[in-house]
Amino acid sequence: CGIVGYVGHSADRGNAGHSALDVVLEGLRRLEYRGYDSAGVAVVSEGSIEFRKKSGKLSNLLAELEEHPLPVTTTGIGHTRWATHGGPTDQNAHPHLADGGKLALIHNGIIENFAELKLDLVAKGYTFESETDTEVAAVLLGDIFRTKLGGDVSDGGLTKAMQLTCQSLEGAFTLLAVHADQPGVVVAARRNSPLVVGLGEGENFLGSDVSGFIDYTRRAVELGQDQIVTITADSVEITDFFGAPAEGKEYHVDWDP
Ligand code: GLU
Repeated sequence: CGIVGYVGHSADRGNAGHSALDVVLEGLRRLEYRGYDSAGVAVVSEGSIEFRKKSGKLSNLLAELEEHPLPVTTTGIGHTRWATHGGPTDQNAHPHLADGGKLALIHNGIIENFAELKLDLVAKGYTFESETDTEVAAVLLGDIFRTKLGGDVSDGGLTKAMQLTCQSLEGAFTLLAVHADQPGVVVAARRNSPLVVGLGEGENFLGSDVSGFIDYTRRAVELGQDQIVTITADSVEITDFFGAPAEGKEYHVDWDP
């Protein structure tokens, strides 16, 4: 129900040097007003994805992070869930992983055609760990990235995989994905569900609304319908679902939390 994404530089690069996890948790705290039943985070760390997720209040996730801390990294995503498909359990909480645990995805909304997509994926031999529609999008994205694109990250592999995935999805979704083979990148997509980019200096943000990053920047770009955005610490690139370059609408956030 609430979504946050972050990419920055490490502190030794002389930039803001924020910990991705700190930024993401702060954003989730700000988004608490939306209501939720579970929360989860994922960070990209030295060629692997690490994640924690818990049903219940954000404080449950924070307690889990106390007990099993995550490393300080420059790239992370976070989610608070309002369950629509599958009850509010730890297993159904986001992120959902795919591509052998190298890819993590979070989602706001509903994938209307998840049942038929799931049948196809099960026929291909994939197994599922949750009852969510979201995990189907994660597994599909992982399958396209690995089998269709050969896991090639030289030319923005995750972005291409997201474009192809979105061409198959129906319904309402804001999706954010990270991949261990493409550290320093978060790819996001939206259809019938909001997504805003926050522009920083040597860092960039994503949020389901501006409260996800209001503590860090007031320069925002609102994405249009059926758009995909790829952020790194220094770049923001927007396309449509077919890879054609697109533009968002930049504005200044006057509102105070
Ligand atoms: N449909 C997804 C689920 O049930 C996402 C719900 C949400 O927007 O938080 O897990």
